[in-house]
Amino acid sequence: MDKATRLKLAVQKSGRLTDHSLDILGRCGLKLARGKDQLIASGLNMPLDVLFVRDDDIPDLVQEDVCDLGLVGLNVLEERRLDLESRGKKADFQVLRALDFGRCRLSLAIPQGESWEGPKSLQGRRIATTYPATLAHYLAKHGVEAHIVTLSGAVEIAPRLGRADLICDLVSSGSTLQANHLREVEVVLESQVVMIRTPVPLPAVKEEWIERLLLRIDGVEQVRESKYIMLHAPRSALPRIRELLPGSEFPTIIPLEGSADRVAVHAVCRETVFWETLESLKAAGASAILVLPVEKMLN
Ligand code: ATP
Ligand code: ZN
Repeated sequence: MDKATRLKLAVQKSGRLTDHSLDILGRCGLKLARGKDQLIASGLNMPLDVLFVRDDDIPDLVQEDVCDLGLVGLNVLEERRLDLESRGKKADFQVLRALDFGRCRLSLAIPQGESWEGPKSLQGRRIATTYPATLAHYLAKHGVEAHIVTLSGAVEIAPRLGRADLICDLVSSGSTLQANHLREVEVVLESQVVMIRTPVPLPAVKEEWIERLLLRIDGVEQVRESKYIMLHAPRSALPRIRELLPGSEFPTIIPLEGSADRVAVHAVCRETVFWETLESLKAAGASAILVLPVEKMLN
């Protein structure tokens, strides 16, 4: 594998981000030679290889130019950045895109039944977390002093074990908090997956492939909700129908053979199309309404 021409992209080896990361790369057209149990899988139809690692290692692999690209949660990235900066070092990764998966938030949670009066309630308390740098930054921003208890996992049981008074941990549905009798009180960081790149300028071929990959990712993200709508309608109803079509820019209007008044309307809708919308279109005079999924889009 030639470092000068082949991109190397770091992806979480096994965890919450793995399937989505591989799915989005697949939708971008990438075919991989080997499964995810290998350290590296080479792209068969793109000059891109995927390196499977722990998500926590991804920022450094990219910053240290071992990998050109990485897919990682903003929570991990911010923690690494703030940790480096707190030690006077520079965080050197560039965020290229925020992607629509891996959404969660880093939140403060207190035992149920305790009162909460905003960040000042944290003064002098012990907070368990696996995100000490992000938490320290938050505390400094709010001008409170608290004791950070850094753990490597199982943060949610720390209050019951008497190791901390409250926690700062990742939440998505909130069911883990509930099961541990904790109440989310404040969001410290909203997170989702981001694509990062090395700060080092790359050979032109690699830069071009990054651009191509980003365009494809944008296309993939756009088509998720998009639908192609086709319908027939009287010309007089067109203004109303355009209003009703969700997130569409310029519909195509086509005359219908043998009908002076009715036309066909084709439009790409970039938002979810609900049954209610179709019913309103029908009420406005539309007929023969078809809603089709969009597979690929390139603007
Ligand atoms: P690794 O072995 O790679 O270090 P991990 O145990 O750190 O794995 P996972 O639990 O797989 O990681 O979570 C990976 C990422 O998924 C998190 O850093 C976060 O960005 C995202 N995520 C989304 N929802 C949640 C959630 N409810 N809890 C934890 N992480 C979540
Ligand atoms: Zn991890």
